[in-house]
Amino acid sequence: MSESLIVVCPHCHAPNRVPAERLAGGGNCGKCKGALFAGEPVELDAASFDNHVGRSDLPVVVDFWAPWCGPCRMMAPAFAQAARTLEPRYRLAKVNTEAHQTLAARFGIRSIPTIAIFKNGREIARQAGAMDAATLTRWVATNG
Ligand SMILES: [Zn+2]
Repeated sequence: MSESLIVVCPHCHAPNRVPAERLAGGGNCGKCKGALFAGEPVELDAASFDNHVGRSDLPVVVDFWAPWCGPCRMMAPAFAQAARTLEPRYRLAKVNTEAHQTLAARFGIRSIPTIAIFKNGREIARQAGAMDAATLTRWVATNG
């Protein structure tokens, strides 16, 4: 009796069915052969966002940021560090709100950075403002 989960590839964004007990071992994408968990956030655009948030069985933690935002740039290493801790239980992703303004508008992102957690296609938590890696990891574990 093995439960399986849909994990969306961070490279080609194809959905993969992975047995739950094999999740911790990582594994590779059936389509592009890339590692399903690279230990780093995945950059999303509108199409790949819908694939990850809409299809993945893992909660997706999204950092809405912009290149001109100082606190966002300062937080980037903490977010990357949190990805190494939170994978494979969560997928961490980044949305550049300047390049993908439709996504920012769709979710009503008013200040950046804003961190939001999506589960089964629905937003379940949101926090505005930069966090360090420990605070972020704790916040995700509590809210996600
Ligand atoms: Zn792939």
